[in-house]
Amino acid sequence: MTVKDIINKDSFSKEDLITLLSCEGDDKTLLYKKSAETKEKYVGNKLWFRGLIEFSNVCGKDCLYCGIRKGNKNLKRYNLSDEEILEAARFAYENRYGSIALQSGELESSSVTSRIENLLHKIKELSDGELGITLSVGEQKHEVYKKWFDAGAHRYLLRVEATNRELYRKIHPDNKKHDFQRRLDCLKSLQDIGYQTGTGVMIGLPFQTPEDLAGDLLYMHDFDIDMCGMGPYIEHADTPLINYADTLLPINTRFDLTLKMIAILRIMMKDINIVAATALQAIDPVGREKAVKIGANIIMPNITPGRYRDNYRLYDNKPCTDDSAEDCQSCLEARVSLADSEVIYGEWGDPIHYEKRLKRARNE
Ligand code: SF4
Repeated sequence: MTVKDIINKDSFSKEDLITLLSCEGDDKTLLYKKSAETKEKYVGNKLWFRGLIEFSNVCGKDCLYCGIRKGNKNLKRYNLSDEEILEAARFAYENRYGSIALQSGELESSSVTSRIENLLHKIKELSDGELGITLSVGEQKHEVYKKWFDAGAHRYLLRVEATNRELYRKIHPDNKKHDFQRRLDCLKSLQDIGYQTGTGVMIGLPFQTPEDLAGDLLYMHDFDIDMCGMGPYIEHADTPLINYADTLLPINTRFDLTLKMIAILRIMMKDINIVAATALQAIDPVGREKAVKIGANIIMPNITPGRYRDNYRLYDNKPCTDDSAEDCQSCLEARVSLADSEVIYGEWGDPIHYEKRLKRARNE
C-alpha cells in the first residue's frame, strides 16, 4: 500500500505505521501535509502554553538514560521552596498562561503527597481557580493520585518512554522500583480517576526498532490517551546508556523520526493535545516550531527560576537553561508566529479528545 493510501485510512496496522515511519521525499511531504490539515481541521492553528516549573531534580529512581537519575553524583540537587514555586505560578497567572505544569523527579512519601496537595490548593487560591494544573511527578499510589485530583490537578503526564516490555527492561534497572507493569497500571489509575491523561516515549533509543515505535503509536491509540509528550532520545554523558552511543541513529535522523511520530499520531488521534518537546530545540533551533507546523499544539515554556535550570538536565545540550521566564515568553511568541500559529492566553486549552472520551464513557 502507498503512503497516500495509508494516510487516508481510518485505522492503521503495525505495517502501515512502519511504512509511514520510513517514508522520505515526496511521501514525507504528503505525510506532513496530511497531519497539518488534520491539525487545522480538528484542533485549529491555536497553541497553548503550559508554564513548566521543574521544582526539584531529586529522584528516587535510576533510569539508565536520565541525567538526573539517583546514581548521578555529578550534579547539584535542588528543591524549590514552596514560595519559589508559588512565585513561578503567580508569574504564569499574571502573564495569562492558561496552565502550568509541575514536574520533578519521582519520589513517593507521605510528605511529598501532602506538600503537593497543599501547593495545589495554594495555586488554585492565588489564581482564583483559573490556572489549569498538570502534574508530572511519576508513579504514585491510586489514592495519592486521587488526593491530588481532588485538590485541583486535572492533567497528569506520565511518560511510559517505551511500550515494548523488553525494550523497557533494557533502559531501566531490573528491579521492583522500575517495574513496567506498574507504570501501565499507574496510567490506568490516572485515567480511571478522571485526569486528562498523557504519556509519551523517547524516539531513537539504543536497541529500539521501527516495530517498537509503531507499537508505541498503537499503544497510545488503544489506551486512548488525551495528551502526548514525546521527544528524541538525546544521550547524557553521565548515564549508563552512554555506553551505547555509537549504536545510535544520527541525531538528525532521531529528530526526523520524532517529527514523523508527531505527524502520524496527529493523523491517528486527531483531537488530542500534542506537546512540541523542548528536546527538539536542542537539536534544531526551530525544532519545536517545525513540530507545531505538522501537528503539535502545546509548548511548555520553562518558568523555573533561572538559577535552578541548569541542574534539570535530563539530556545534554538542553536549551534555554540560563534564560529568565520573561525571556522565554518573548522568544517563544516570536518563534510561534513563524509557525503560523496563534498563542491563546487565559484559557486552559483542554484536549477536545478528553470531553469526547468522557461522553463516550457515559454513552451520550
Ligand atoms: S526519568 Fe524520571 S524517574 Fe527516571 S531517573 Fe529521570 S527523573 Fe527519575
